Amino acid sequence: MTECIFCKIARGEMEANIVHRDEDVVAFHDINPQAPTHILVISRKHIPSISDCAPEDFAVIAKVLAVCAKIAERESIRESGYRLVLNTGVDAGQAVDHIHVHLLGGREMAWPPG
Ligand code: 5GP
Ligand code: ZN
Repeated sequence: MTECIFCKIARGEMEANIVHRDEDVVAFHDINPQAPTHILVISRKHIPSISDCAPEDFAVIAKVLAVCAKIAERESIRESGYRLVLNTGVDAGQAVDHIHVHLLGGREMAWPPG
């Protein structure tokens, strides 16, 4: 059994405000939201980061992105816009080593990111 917190959330062993769940993908509200909408979309499979994806893992990453678009629609930020972020590694500040896409929206965002 892995100690990974996102694996635990995906298995229902740790509490989270879940907004989507299917056989490959789980999505839940970030515990420390940085925007009015801040949802984390993860694969059920434990993949540490995009750099660790095997060729066959990109099919599930495509599903993760499709879920992001679906949730953005449901959150009514499709028209106003949103940002998808995949922090990867130390320089990007990746804190949880289980691949996750941040879905951020509901406010204007600066570019370049900090
Ligand atoms: P990273 O910096 O790795 O891209 O982002 C990790 C994100 O996970 C952070 O935005 C952080 O707030 C969120 N997070 C960390 N622990 C938990 C948790 O236990 N539950 C939820 N819902 N979010 C978490
Ligand atoms: Zn994991």
